[in-house]
Amino acid sequence: WKNAPPSLRALADHARSHGDRLMTIYEDERVSYEAWYRAVAKLAAEFQARGIAKGDRVALAMRNLPEWPVAFFAATTIGAICVPLNAWWTGDELEFGLHNSGAKLLVCDAERWERIAQHRAQCPDLDHVIVSRMGTDDLSVDRLEDLIGTPHSWPTLPEATIPDVTLAPDDPATIFYTSGTTGQPKGALGSHRNLTTNILSSAYAAARTALRRGEMPAAGVQKVGMTVIPLFHVTACSASMMGALFAGHTLIFLYRWDTVKAFEIIEREKVNLTGGVPTIAWQMIEHPDREKYDLSSLENIAYGGAPAAPELVRKIYELFGAMPGNGWGMTETMATVTSHTAEDYLNRPDSCGPAVPVSDLKVTDEDGNELPQGAIGELWARGPQIVIGYWNRPEATAETFIDGWVRTGDLGRVDEEGFCYILDRAKDMVIRGGENIYSSEVENVLYDHPAVTDAAIIGLPHKQLGEEPAAVVHLAPGTEASEAELQGWVAARLAKFKVPVRIVFVEETLPRNANGKILKKDLGALF
Ligand code: ATP
Ligand code: MG
Repeated sequence: WKNAPPSLRALADHARSHGDRLMTIYEDERVSYEAWYRAVAKLAAEFQARGIAKGDRVALAMRNLPEWPVAFFAATTIGAICVPLNAWWTGDELEFGLHNSGAKLLVCDAERWERIAQHRAQCPDLDHVIVSRMGTDDLSVDRLEDLIGTPHSWPTLPEATIPDVTLAPDDPATIFYTSGTTGQPKGALGSHRNLTTNILSSAYAAARTALRRGEMPAAGVQKVGMTVIPLFHVTACSASMMGALFAGHTLIFLYRWDTVKAFEIIEREKVNLTGGVPTIAWQMIEHPDREKYDLSSLENIAYGGAPAAPELVRKIYELFGAMPGNGWGMTETMATVTSHTAEDYLNRPDSCGPAVPVSDLKVTDEDGNELPQGAIGELWARGPQIVIGYWNRPEATAETFIDGWVRTGDLGRVDEEGFCYILDRAKDMVIRGGENIYSSEVENVLYDHPAVTDAAIIGLPHKQLGEEPAAVVHLAPGTEASEAELQGWVAARLAKFKVPVRIVFVEETLPRNANGKILKKDLGALF
C-alpha cells in the first residue's frame, strides 16, 4: 500500500502521462488522456472560482458521458467530495441525494436537469448548477460547454495543471449511495485511500488473468474496455474506471445497453474487457445474432454486484474464449472484497473468490461472535477499502462499522483454501419451520436446468412454518418447462424442504435496479 498513489490527484497526474492514448470513446467523441486532463484542470479552476473548497460536496448526475470522469476528478482533486447520483433516479430521489449530501454544486446532463429543476428550491445548499448537453437556454444555470468546451474541443484547451491542494489519503473523496435494495439508499463516505486501493486489486486480478492465459502481465499493454454499468455505482467507478486510468486503457461508454450495438462496438473497436453485471453477459450469450459478429478480441468478461450462475461461467469461457471474472463487494467496501478469475473461477464457479490481497474476511453468528472455519454465517470484511462510514447516519454507521470491520449483511462461508461463497443476504434468507434456505443454492440448481435463464427465490408467508420458498423463473425463448418439472428437478438435487412450493413464470427477465440486482421485494406481488 505504501507505494500506491496517495490520492486521486496523484492518479490524475499519472493518467495524464498516457498522453495521446485514447481515454474515452463515446459515439464520435474520442478523448485522449491529455485532453481529459486539460478539461479536468479547467473545470477544477471553475469550481474553485465558485467557492468550492476542501470538504464541500459536488454532486454529479449524468449518464456515462465523457464529462463524467472530468467532473469527478475536477471535484476530488481539489479536495471536494464528489457525490455521484443515480441517473435512474426520479426528480424526488435526486432531490433526496442533493438534500442528504448538502451538495453546494451540481454537474448534470440536460436529461437530469429536466427532472431536478423544479426541486432546486428544496435544496438550500445548492448554490451552483452546471449542465452539459443542454439544447435550450436556461439562464438560471451555467452550461458546461461555456466553461470547458465540448469533448471535441478539449485538446485545444490551454495546457494547465490541476490547482494545488494538500490532500491526505484519509481525506474524504466521495459519497456513493448504496443501491437501496433493502431500504433507503445510504451515502457511503469514502476516502482517497479507499478509492485508490482498488487499483491494486484490479491490477492484481489483471496480472493473474494474463499469467493464466500464458501471457506476461505487461503494464504497458493498452486494452480496450467497454463500460456498460453506470459510473455512479462504485464498481464501475473504482474497479473499472480507476484501474483503466492507472493502466492507460481506453473506456468505451454506451448511451444505454443494447446487445447488438455492443456487438458492433466490440467488433469495430476490438474490445478486450467488458462485463459489469451477470445479466449483460447472459444477454450476449442468448442473442440469436451473436455468431454474426467477430467477438474474438474479448479477453475478460468480469462482473459482480449480484449472484452469478455457475452455468454463466462455463458459457463465457466456451462461447467467447474469454476469462470470466467475479467480484463480491458493496458500496461500503468501495467495490471489491473478493475477486475470482481464471482457472480458479472455472473450477469453483459457485464461489466469488478469495479476499483481495489487501483484505481479510471473517464469518460470525448473529451476535458477531466469530465462527469456526467453514461455518455459514454473516461475512465481515476489513481492509483499506472499507469506507469511513455513512454520511449523516450515525446510528447506521455504529451498527455497521465496528472495530475496523464492516458487517456486510451477506451470509456465506469461506473454505479451507480461502475461497468465499455468498449464499444470500441475511434479509432474504427464507426460514421454513426453522430450516434455513439460502436463495442462491436453489437458484443455482434452477439455472442448471437447460430452459431456465433467470430465477429468484423468495419467501412466502406461511401460518405454521413462518415462510415457504417460492420461485420466479424466466425461460429461454422457445423452451418449455412446467412448474412440476422444475419442482422435480430441484427435488432430485436438494433436500425436500428447499423445493419451491410455487413457481411463477414471467415473460420478461426479472425486474432489476440500475446495478443489476433483482428487486426481490417487488416479486411477492406475483403470488
Ligand atoms: P442497500 O444496501 O441499499 O440495501 P445493496 O446492498 O444492494 O443496497 P450495493 O452496495 O450496491 O447495495 O450492493 C452490495 C450487495 O450486492 C452485497 O451486499 C451483496 O448482497 C450483493 N453482491 C455484490 N456482489 C456480489 C456477488 N459477486 N455475488 C453475490 N452477491 C453480490
Ligand atoms: Mg447493502
